[in-house]
This record gives sequence, C-alpha cells and structure tokens, in this order.
Amino acid sequence: MSGNIVKFKPRQNACQHKYIIIDLDMRQLQCETCGANVDPIEWIYQLGVEEDILTKRIDSLKRELQKLQGQKAELRNKLNVRP
Ligand SMILES: [Zn+2]
Repeated sequence: MSGNIVKFKPRQNACQHKYIIIDLDMRQLQCETCGANVDPIEWIYQLGVEEDILTKRIDSLKRELQKLQGQKAELRNKLNVRP
C-alpha cells in the first residue's frame, strides 16, 4: 500500500450513508438518506470493517451457544433428566 493513507473513524450523530444509490454510468455513489456524494473506496472499506465486526460477533455467539449447550447437558445429567 502506498500513497496518502487516512484512517477513518465513525462519525457520531452523522449520517452513516447506509443506503446508497450507485450510478453505474457516472461511477458515483450517493447517499439515499442525506444526498451526500460518497467516496466509493471509503464505502467499500466501511463495508469490509462492518463485515469483519459482524463475523467476529457471530463467531463469539457460536462459542457462547456451544458453552451454554454444554452447561445444559451437564445440568440435565446432574438432574438425570432426558433431553
Ligand atoms: Zn448519508
């Protein structure tokens, strides 16, 4: 990676530009909510960040589910209850 690199951080209380209109002919993005022109690279980058956060959250929830299922099975065994 070379050139001018800028770190982005989420804007608070500002439009997050979640709903985008893509003009394929002009190769531009526009926010459907606030009408702002959105930088395509920033938008793609933000999608990747959000996907990464969601993937980590899903993995964490799967681990928590496995842990709870294990605890449930242990409790059933202690109480001698059939599943
Ligand atoms: Zn917006």
